[in-house]
Amino acid sequence: MSSAPRFRPKPVADAIVDRWWIDFAICRGKYDLFFEPFGERPGPRRRREAQAKLLCAQCPVQMNCLEAGRRNHESGLWGGETEEERVRAGFPPRANVRRDLVAARRERSSDTDHDRPDGEAA
Ligand code: SF4
Repeated sequence: MSSAPRFRPKPVADAIVDRWWIDFAICRGKYDLFFEPFGERPGPRRRREAQAKLLCAQCPVQMNCLEAGRRNHESGLWGGETEEERVRAGFPPRANVRRDLVAARRERSSDTDHDRPDGEAA
């Protein structure tokens, strides 16, 4: 009989407070794929993130992880979503020091400005 924990889905909202789902993460021990090493160039980053997303696509707790990444304003790749994608979705990391994150935040900000009824910039 296997000693691995048995996966039982719980509501996604629980993921924010309760990290029970981490026991079912299939990325355990592969964290280098999910967080940017210092000085990483765009090409290697794209390849690393593509590999991470392949894992996330098979993960039984992907939605819990994605929601936790958004709600906790995490950095790195969570639930198959990169930092840039989270910024565009309106969930920026607490500290954004990368130039492309700043650009994604500006892009989101200008998209939001277009949505304002008075048409004025924020
Ligand atoms: S969705 Fe991806 S980052 Fe989240 S626990 Fe699963 S494999 Fe890890």
